[in-house]
Amino acid sequence: MSRAFNFSAGPATLPEVVLRQAQAEMLEFGDAGASIVEMSHRGPEFIAVASQAEADLRQLLSIPEDYAVLFTAGGATTIQALLPLNFAAPGQRADYVVTGHWGKTAIKQASHCIDARVAASGEADGFTSIPAREGWQLGADAAYVHITDNETIHGVQFAAAPETGDVPLFADFSSSIASAPLDVRKYGLIYAGAQKNLGPVGISVVIVRRDLLQRPGQPRADIFNYASLAARDSMLNTPPTWNWYLLGLTVRWMLEQGGVEHFAALNARKAAAVYQAIDGSGGFYRNAVDPAVRSVMNIPFFLPDDTLNARFVAQAKAAGLLALKGHKAVGGIRASLYNAMPLAGAQALAAFMADFQQHNG
Ligand SMILES: *Cc1c(COP(=O)(O)O)cnc(C)c1O
Repeated sequence: MSRAFNFSAGPATLPEVVLRQAQAEMLEFGDAGASIVEMSHRGPEFIAVASQAEADLRQLLSIPEDYAVLFTAGGATTIQALLPLNFAAPGQRADYVVTGHWGKTAIKQASHCIDARVAASGEADGFTSIPAREGWQLGADAAYVHITDNETIHGVQFAAAPETGDVPLFADFSSSIASAPLDVRKYGLIYAGAQKNLGPVGISVVIVRRDLLQRPGQPRADIFNYASLAARDSMLNTPPTWNWYLLGLTVRWMLEQGGVEHFAALNARKAAAVYQAIDGSGGFYRNAVDPAVRSVMNIPFFLPDDTLNARFVAQAKAAGLLALKGHKAVGGIRASLYNAMPLAGAQALAAFMADFQQHNG
């Protein structure tokens, strides 16, 4: 068996030790006589797995006690649709700062039931920068301000949490959660689909200040009610147990590696290796994002033409560097460097880029 370096944007690479442990426990979990996927979510084995995952995630991200942690089925897009139902009154204003594709998705999910406003947008410059905070059109009566911490497709990332005064800040951290320390208290709500940095697709995490769960929101089925979900430990119905288990293994691995401080330092080195390969190429490789807000997790870049983009992707794959094709919305190349990507992977990509340029530049 040979595992290549996988630069997929999501579902993304997972630590090999996590996959090996899951493989070893697939047939029998401990001495339970059955796999974790075959057991009741109300049984002691799974309850222990679930609560350990929450405890570990709380430790990893330093989540204060007055924040609830929800584990939800479905993806980040599902959460984007549920935010207005849970935290805004019908027709109430909410402000969206759109810095790329996922910010646009977020506002689209909300527009049919609230007054979702574009408070600022980076679209005019092709989402290569983040509009200055001074220019944001925020309403004091907004239910929340929504940002995308890291735009997975456009490669634009907030360098710090913006101030939003008394209006709570809601942030999509799908592709950047646990990549570096974060101050949870700066946010009213943080959410992330797991398949970028936390584990497998099929489960997501919502970290929400408990007082916000008191908001009446809008008429909705109980299964979509985050207050009910919090009251029942995310088990109103059968949760995605296998995904929750794998998420728990991944979070535990991150703690064992040294936590978010370790990953912040490692991720900075990985990103620097690839950005240096771009910036040092004399224009052969191009990334147009404002250096102050370049993403540490997802690096989109372009070769001089589409023929070269395609050749690059094909030859990289043959060299054991997988899934480098850019998202169809922007084209080109994209390298995703989540926590489970080792430094050697980023270095191998940088070396391949130099070699490819020598033969094709
Ligand atoms: C991947 C991604 C999403 C969408 O996630 P799904 O699980 O496919 O719904 C939303 N926001 C960001 C920032 C993402 O990276």
